[in-house]
Amino acid sequence: MSQRGDWRRHRFDDGVRVRDAGATVPRALGFLRPYLGLVVLILLCLIGSAALVAIPPLLIRELIDEAIPHGDRGFLNLLVLSMIGIYVGNGLIGVFQNYLNTSVSQRIMFDIRNQLYDQVQGLSLRFFTASHTGEIMSRLTEDVSGIQNVVAGSLISIANNIFILVITLAVIFLLDWRLALLSVMLLPLFILPTRLVGRVRRRLRRETHQERARMNTIMQETLNISGYLLMKLYNREKFEAARLRESNRKVMDLEIHSALVGRWFFMLMGLFSLVGPALIYWWGGHQVISQSLTIGTVIAFVAYLTRLYGPASSLATVYVDVQAALALFERIFDYLDTEPEVVEPPDGVELSQAKGQLQFENVSFEYVRSRRALDKVSFTVEPGQMAALVGPSGAGKTTITYLLPRFYDPTEGTVRLDGHDLRRLSLDSLRSQMGIVTQETFLFNATIRENLLYARPDSTEGEVVQACKAAQLHEFIESLDDRYDTLVGERGYRLSGGEKQRLSIARVMLKDPVVFILDEATSHLDSLSESLIQAAFEPLFRNRTSLVIAHRLSTVLRSDVILVMDRGHLVEQGTHRELLAARGLYSRVYEEQFRPQEEEAERVRTSRTDSAQAL
Ligand code: ATP
Repeated sequence: MSQRGDWRRHRFDDGVRVRDAGATVPRALGFLRPYLGLVVLILLCLIGSAALVAIPPLLIRELIDEAIPHGDRGFLNLLVLSMIGIYVGNGLIGVFQNYLNTSVSQRIMFDIRNQLYDQVQGLSLRFFTASHTGEIMSRLTEDVSGIQNVVAGSLISIANNIFILVITLAVIFLLDWRLALLSVMLLPLFILPTRLVGRVRRRLRRETHQERARMNTIMQETLNISGYLLMKLYNREKFEAARLRESNRKVMDLEIHSALVGRWFFMLMGLFSLVGPALIYWWGGHQVISQSLTIGTVIAFVAYLTRLYGPASSLATVYVDVQAALALFERIFDYLDTEPEVVEPPDGVELSQAKGQLQFENVSFEYVRSRRALDKVSFTVEPGQMAALVGPSGAGKTTITYLLPRFYDPTEGTVRLDGHDLRRLSLDSLRSQMGIVTQETFLFNATIRENLLYARPDSTEGEVVQACKAAQLHEFIESLDDRYDTLVGERGYRLSGGEKQRLSIARVMLKDPVVFILDEATSHLDSLSESLIQAAFEPLFRNRTSLVIAHRLSTVLRSDVILVMDRGHLVEQGTHRELLAARGLYSRVYEEQFRPQEEEAERVRTSRTDSAQAL
């Protein structure tokens, strides 16, 4: 099967990639679809408000041309009261519309965040090894909040300004078409420069986002426990601080640059909007002198001009904001369009009672194109057998264990469980058969019980205790003040290495998988912890198929078959005796890695016997 991974189609922290805005806009608007009813209500509010605010200049005209010259106090009072009524009505519509905006924009944000989390959660391991956590977090938090601002701010503003513009244009042309033409002649001056500024701002906004994500990554990597320890231990505080400062400076420079990009543009806009009224007073004034226009009409016109140029310049700046918003949507669509490499098969086979036979059939695998981490590997592990993977560093042992739960699919060849190609099994049914204990135990910052129940939330208290007893952990837990309700700390830092590992063993025991995969720790703990861990593993090896990346002599000795890997090839397989006799790679690994352990064990045994005899 060919790789369909995102690593070929997408790069995640690459340079600026601008999509076709024509496709992004309708897709972005698609997020509004479920809320069309509310959107229509918002539009009605906007139209109502735009129509209302078009009335006061007409009232001013009546006031100047009719009420005041004719000394009509009643009409004057009515005009002013109407004006106040219109402003109050408009304010009330604004409050209601604000409520609607917020609820639509928050719902859209809710939808996008959920959609993004589901999508990213469904992506393959390759995505996570290729991206930075900081960058992922930044897209899921900052970008999504940015979109809320776009919906509640920019979109509403566009619609509002369009309505005001259209209604104002209609009214001024009805009032006096010559003055209206004069006012409109200045409009292109507001519209044309916006495209240019928009393009530059869009690029800058995208670069700023990327740099900010980079900065988040530095913070996340150095301000978590593992990164912190590493930084302190290697005296890299100054280096990290400098790295952060550099990224922080870039963010600052980019922000300043984007803020300044439009400064001439905004200055010119301001100027244009002042020139308009002056022209109206000049031309209108002449008309009033020659008695072809009333003073009220000229004043009303100037009032309308603010409703014409205000929205026109806002529309121009909103256009700039929309360009920036497109960059946000593009980043989100980048993630939404990333195809998961490992996909759920349609009508996947459900394995209810797996036996646990594992088969690799000519399996090759590439992390990076044309570099084989596994090359035509074939072997079978029968149900209940224990296979030990042995070989030098980088030989492909971990990669073999990654293919079993389908963290990756093979580039060529087939991996089978009970004769079924793994790609034909439903992912749930496949993964429920697999239990994995890795060298590094991951625990959530929750209680011991919660971490254990992660494996099987419906386990009874009795089952939890039984698993912990089998994992040689129960006594230790009972000695803690809060027992099973003790918090384990960030990544389990409040527990020792051995305790953490025994907790992960108990967790797998609760899951009770058919296939058990173990990446044995390379580092040796003290002999008490070591023997506790070995005892904890015992029940896991019984009655199930196990595949162990072996670093202990005791493990290879008790395994049914040893698979010897070298640079992606399975070079030998057999039992300890057979392989020693073959005098191949295994016998060399044995001499270098296992023999010293044997001698050490012998030395400890002898010294114990000596001290016993001395007593
Ligand atoms: P070790 O005993 O040191 O853990 P291993 O036998 O488990 O080694 P693997 O982790 O399976 O070796 O790696 C096999 C090869 O694949 C190595 O050359 C390694 O550099 C490469 N490799 C592993 N993970 C990736 C990755 N995510 N991207 C690219 N190459 C990788």
